[in-house]
Parts: sequence; C-alpha cells; structure tokens
Amino acid sequence: MSSENVRDVWTWKTELTGLYSVKSAYTWLCRQQSDQLEETNWAWIWRTCLPASIQFFLWQICHEALPTRETLVHRGIIDNSNCPMCNAQQETLLHCLLECPRIGALWNSLGLCQPHLPTDSEKIKEWLKCWVEEQGSIIPVLLWVIWRSRNNMIFKGKLDKVADLKVWVSTWCSAIIRAYGGEPATGSIWQQRSTRLVRWTAKEGDWVTINVDGSALTNPGAVGVGGLVRDNTGLFMVGFYGSIGISNNIHAELVAMWRGLTLCWERGYSHVCCQSDCLYVVQLLQQESSHYHRYAVLLDKIKELISRHWTCQVIHILREGNFCADFFARKGAVSSEGLVILEEAPVEMEELLRKDITGTCVLRR
Ligand SMILES: [Zn+2]
Repeated sequence: MSSENVRDVWTWKTELTGLYSVKSAYTWLCRQQSDQLEETNWAWIWRTCLPASIQFFLWQICHEALPTRETLVHRGIIDNSNCPMCNAQQETLLHCLLECPRIGALWNSLGLCQPHLPTDSEKIKEWLKCWVEEQGSIIPVLLWVIWRSRNNMIFKGKLDKVADLKVWVSTWCSAIIRAYGGEPATGSIWQQRSTRLVRWTAKEGDWVTINVDGSALTNPGAVGVGGLVRDNTGLFMVGFYGSIGISNNIHAELVAMWRGLTLCWERGYSHVCCQSDCLYVVQLLQQESSHYHRYAVLLDKIKELISRHWTCQVIHILREGNFCADFFARKGAVSSEGLVILEEAPVEMEELLRKDITGTCVLRR
C-alpha cells in the first residue's frame, strides 16, 4: 500500500513505532537466541514477568501435563475422573480451570464469558499466550489460584470462598508487579480495578454508530476484521467481515477501522461515530503521524477519511461493549473471503444485537 503523504523511509522492523533503540535491539537478540534453543516455541513462557512456580504451571498447562483427574485416569493412577469440585463432570484441563461451575462466578466477575474463553484444550495455549501478551500477569495468576484452591479442597479438605480467591488474585498480582515489573498494557483489566458495568450504547441524534474489531486466531496468525453500522436505536444497517491473511492484532484493528469508515463514507452517512476497543489505535490516531510507524500508510489513510467533509469521530470503548463487532471479526478470521458486506444481520448474531439494544450490562472488574 502506498500513499503520497507518507514518504518512504527505513524503519526498525521489530517495533511498531519503527524507531530503533538499544533496548529494543537487545530484546530482539535475546528473543532470537531463546527461540533457537526451544524446539517448540515455549520461549514466551520463560519471558513472562512471573515467578518460576507460575511459569512452570503455565508450561504444564501448555503440555497438558497438569495432573487433573482425567490425566491421572489416563495414566492408570486412579480410576475415577469426576471433578472433585462439582462432581458433575469429568475433570479435564478445560473443566478444571475454566468451565467448572464452582469457579464460574470468579470468571464472571472478570467480565469474561463465552465467546472470550477457549473451547478446547488446543486453543487454551494460544489463548493464554495472547492474554499474557495483552494483559500481563492476571490470567496466569487467576488460573494458578484456581488450581491451588482445587488442591486445597482435595488435600486439605478446605473449601475456599470465591471472594477469598479474588483477594488472592489481586494480592498476588500486586506482589508480582512489585517484584518483577512487567506493568501490564494500558487499559488492561488489571488497571481498571473498580467494578463497573459495561454496555454498548448508540450515539443519539443524526448519528450512525459503527463498531469495528480485529481478531487474530493467534497473534501473529490468521487474522480477520469485521464491523457493523447501527442507527441511533441500535438497528442493524450494514455489516462486513473478511480475512486479511497472516498478520497481528494491531494491523487487524487498523484495517477494520479503515474498511468500516470507507463503507460509511460510501453509504453517504453524514455523522459517524466509530467505536473501537483498541486503545492503542485510538490514541495513535490522536497523535501526530510518524513516517517511521510500521502502519504509517494505513494510519494516514484513516486520518484522511476522518478529515473528509462529514462529521466523523473515533472513540475507545471497552471490549465488553464491542461483542457484535468481535463476532464479525472472528467470522472474518476463519473466512476465505477478503471482504463480505451484509445488508442484513446473520441469524446467529440476533441474540448479541438484542442484548445491545436492551442495554444488557456486563460486569467488568
Ligand atoms: Zn467441576
């Protein structure tokens, strides 16, 4: 992609900003070295800012080596694989850490529910990796606390309260950040400590609201983009999704916004409010452009669109208010099409749309 506004420059490939620093070169060299040593790419685990015990715990999850009841039955050590917490289902890795009803309240209190949780044990590895990169230590700590609490129950007969588990998670996270650094990304769940209710809202008056999102199956990996335009009552007007091949989350978020705004311009809307859950991209658009940024051309194209003769604003919303766009982005990631435009909402999406219209809140802590 080229643009006459952005001149060709040499940039430093490993940073999104395209700017070289000694620190970034050092990190890059270390990464090369550790990647070569690892047969499969588990190096990310050892790079996390976490105590060795939790790193090892992550390694066990990724190798499906956690001694859950199902694993122990498989190894011929015990003969009953029922979950010791709920006694209702087999204690698989996924059940034990994510699905067991005894810990459902804990996940809900983080505002995490389907479709944000992985549904099979293969996906848990990539999901974990993405989470750690995006949000820092909170998810590994949470999983670890769940596992310890399960062991407390089995080996000490002690049943921990969900409220206590929450306190453990936050105490451990603070201690880890103090000890190891590794401040999580801006806007991460960890930084927003107070509980709040999040819901989607349409912009009132003459406005149309467009939600956009990018979704990477793995980061980097097969990436999809998607979005939808709704009127001021929340009614579906037009939607889109498509695949952009192998790339990363930031690229996907930018392409989603560019495609979405182009669609709005072509449809002749005069007042457009664009909602994205990627704070980094929204902030980038507010800053002065740098020719060195890896996506300088795409940023320039989006800025040019926004500055056209219409009223167009881009705002940041929380992920919990962007489920419909996320739905399309995920559809895009597994699609073979570059761009599909939908004049009507797909049936599978009706429930999500209805929730947005009725203002259903998602608890975010
Ligand atoms: Zn259970």
